[in-house]
Amino acid sequence: EEFTDVEIHEVLQRNISLMNYKKPTPVQRHAIPISILRRDLMACAQTGSGKTAAFLFPMFAKMLKDGPPEKIRRREAFPIGLVLEPTRELAVQTQREALKFAYKTGIRCVVVHGGKDFYNQENEINRGIDILIATPGRLIDFLERGMIDLAIVRYLILDEGDRMLDMGFEPQIRRILRAMHGNDHETIMCSATFPEEMKAIAATFMKDFVFLAI
Ligand code: AMP
Repeated sequence: EEFTDVEIHEVLQRNISLMNYKKPTPVQRHAIPISILRRDLMACAQTGSGKTAAFLFPMFAKMLKDGPPEKIRRREAFPIGLVLEPTRELAVQTQREALKFAYKTGIRCVVVHGGKDFYNQENEINRGIDILIATPGRLIDFLERGMIDLAIVRYLILDEGDRMLDMGFEPQIRRILRAMHGNDHETIMCSATFPEEMKAIAATFMKDFVFLAI
């Protein structure tokens, strides 16, 4: 059995095999085709469900299919993919998974989070970013210094939405979305729980989204 029926770039197929993911988890099986069809998605998914690959896989698949936008050839602090994480641990974990997907794709994944040396992260940023994995506070630092520009982000992931809200990150997330200047992007939001508050927020972050609860 193939990991997915969706037709994907062979380098991505190979990376999935190297990761030894033989069969998609339920959230992957449902989320991947929806996102590849470019619908916004709100996925109810717990840690351990394979949600990280469920949102990274379609992002890589679409990036490989779409190719780099003209402006990105300079690759200076202009990410095309943005993953927001509530904590540095999650950011680092997601980066680890993203690096496996990125193997031999030429897609450069960078992680920025509070508590990591600012100047090392600055060096990483200056070497170019395709996918940025970030905690909200540190990303805003870089936005305010003019070191990262979100103008051409095409793929946005909001991971652990309920934790982001619990940690009071809503204003920061809105600030980050404003920095995207209403550009045309596709969004996946993950959350373990779905209080009314979360549904209301999802409706303001996404258009016409599919709600997936497994
Ligand atoms: P997550 O829910 O994203 O934190 O993933 C939980 C764990 O499941 C991680 O260690 C992944 O590497 C692993 N994993 C994710 N998808 C698959 C899959 N399709 N087959 C086997 N392991 C997987």
